[in-house]
Amino acid sequence: MEKKLIETFSPKETYSLGRKMGEEAAPGAVFTLVGDLGCGKTVFSQGLARGLGVAGPVNSPTFTILQVYEGGRHPFYHFDVYRIGDVEEMEEIGYQDCFYGDGVCLVEWADLIEEILPEHYTRITITGNPEKGFDYRQIQVEEI
Ligand code: ADP
Ligand code: MG
Repeated sequence: MEKKLIETFSPKETYSLGRKMGEEAAPGAVFTLVGDLGCGKTVFSQGLARGLGVAGPVNSPTFTILQVYEGGRHPFYHFDVYRIGDVEEMEEIGYQDCFYGDGVCLVEWADLIEEILPEHYTRITITGNPEKGFDYRQIQVEEI
């Protein structure tokens, strides 16, 4: 299991990291994002979408669970499962076609649906550190 630690000092740096990972993402890749409200999951997601070549705005799909973007190099499936009640809701929206398809998936609040995550994915954990300033984030990237 490979693990990397990256530090960012601004939203722009977190966005750039996402963009780089989006540029390098292969079809079928699944990224999960874990971290407190306001830590930068959506900022990272917006960068990743940009890296995939998705044009236009990407916002947190909080009220829909899944937002699909077709315009990039691969389909981009952006999940935000913050408000999910039960993993059955994931089945209702057909998450399997996304997780096991040829697009790139990114799941915000993925710890809420841990039991249905695929065998292999890239887990991204974002944490702040008040001692290091308001805009500081530590971003852990693990290949599961
Ligand atoms: P989440 O989706 O995790 O709830 P958002 O991405 O919506 O969080 O919001 C993150 C907020 O934190 C934004 O207002 C952003 O400007 C701010 N921020 C400050 N520093 C950073 C950083 N290093 N990386 C990402 N976001 C940061
Ligand atoms: Mg968000």
